[in-house]
Amino acid sequence: MARIPLMAGNWKMNLDHLEATALAQRLYWALRDANFDYSKVEVALIPPFTDLRSVQTVTDADNMAIVYGAQDVSVHAAGAYTGEISAHMLAKLGCSFVVVGHSERRQYHGETDQEVGEKAKAALGAGITPIICVGEALAIRKAGEHVAYTLAQIDGVYAELGPTLAPATTVAYEPVWAIGTGEVATPADAQEVCGAIRGRLAALFGRETAEGIRILYGGSVKASNVASIMAEADVDGALVGGASLDPAEFSKICRFAELIA
Ligand code: PEP
Repeated sequence: MARIPLMAGNWKMNLDHLEATALAQRLYWALRDANFDYSKVEVALIPPFTDLRSVQTVTDADNMAIVYGAQDVSVHAAGAYTGEISAHMLAKLGCSFVVVGHSERRQYHGETDQEVGEKAKAALGAGITPIICVGEALAIRKAGEHVAYTLAQIDGVYAELGPTLAPATTVAYEPVWAIGTGEVATPADAQEVCGAIRGRLAALFGRETAEGIRILYGGSVKASNVASIMAEADVDGALVGGASLDPAEFSKICRFAELIA
């Protein structure tokens, strides 16, 4: 089954709404100047909540084929949850994606696999694709337990979803030691875990479902390393942090196919 690659730029807590508008436009122009074919690669922006309305306005106004999403979502539908943002609110703003279980949320906000699964379920209930983040810290990799650890996260999250919802999800394998550090996993490292994740999804939900789920790699992806990572069989795109704040660099990442020569 052909999976269209997804390049998603996670802006984290960067850029106010004016800067967000400018970056979306500059990326759009860079891709337009390169005659970018959006039918071959899906491009998503993942800005902070406060930028979403501006990103919606600029992408609508210029009829951009760039889609967007949020960095987190509440498990709750509505009510007395001060500071939370519901999936319905994100859907109303035109979000296609929401990142759930990013390692920074797991680390700083204590999010568990169960909560990440509940967030993914809330997103799916509003018609939004969750990008479910998993991945191991350095000590776990050094102990050689990175595959087992990551698959346990997959088990925990997907226990909340089940076979009906699983096909509509996306996974991002992000080894924590490679996020924002400049340390990038080798293509073989990325394939080892992404392949194991697909194998586990096949065991849980069947081969056909597993073949349809996109599995992204994330961790210091740049134009200089994206092509070799994307050449791996089970890597279907990238979740890009720092490099997505530079429109020229991110446009090159989206055009990774040109770098495979
Ligand atoms: C991320 O934030 O998900 C990420 C992968 O960051 P970076 O590309 O900066 O390592």
